[in-house]
Amino acid sequence: MARYRGAVCRLCRREGAKLFLKGERCFTDKCALERRPYPPGQHGQMRTKKTEYGLLLREKQKLKRIYGVLEKQFRRYFAEAERRKGVTGETLLVLLERRLDNVIYRMGFANSRNQARQLVRHGHVMVNGRKVDIPSYQVKVGDVIKIREKSREIPLIKEALEGRARRGVPSWLEVDAERLEGKIKAMPTREEIAIPVQEQLIVEFYSK
Ligand code: SF4
Repeated sequence: MARYRGAVCRLCRREGAKLFLKGERCFTDKCALERRPYPPGQHGQMRTKKTEYGLLLREKQKLKRIYGVLEKQFRRYFAEAERRKGVTGETLLVLLERRLDNVIYRMGFANSRNQARQLVRHGHVMVNGRKVDIPSYQVKVGDVIKIREKSREIPLIKEALEGRARRGVPSWLEVDAERLEGKIKAMPTREEIAIPVQEQLIVEFYSK
């Protein structure tokens, strides 16, 4: 599946919010949004009035960018969320949160979802004892996620574990940092998904 390969700090500056796409750097004063808190580009510092459509669009773009998903795939998530029972916006968030790359990030084995995606893609992750190299794989309750034995010395994972305490682990996950493995205890609820997004605006965006 394709992914965005450009400069990620631009995305935070465009959304006017920290999306934490660069791992540890996001917690330092090197954060581009803190240094230049205005949209990127030649006209970034010009005052512009946001339209209602613009507000809805920005909210949708923000969520897509947080999880590193492109438009086509994001629409598929939305269609699936609409199809399922329950509140569409919340279901959308839960579907995104259940992605394997997100779970690796939430468990603290990677500093960002991008890094987590790379770990999965390169075959360093096992689910229930079998290698899974699909970042969008949807985890289920009871799944055991593990970093492969031969991948334990990867510097990226060691660095991520050092910064893990700062981010914390959500209560729907159980992690054994020593063994580099974790379990899905329950499905995430909206309260447990710490994402600064108003999902009802995204539902409104697609229903226009
Ligand atoms: Fe966003 Fe992190 Fe870059 Fe700051 S350092 S602009 S939070 S990606």
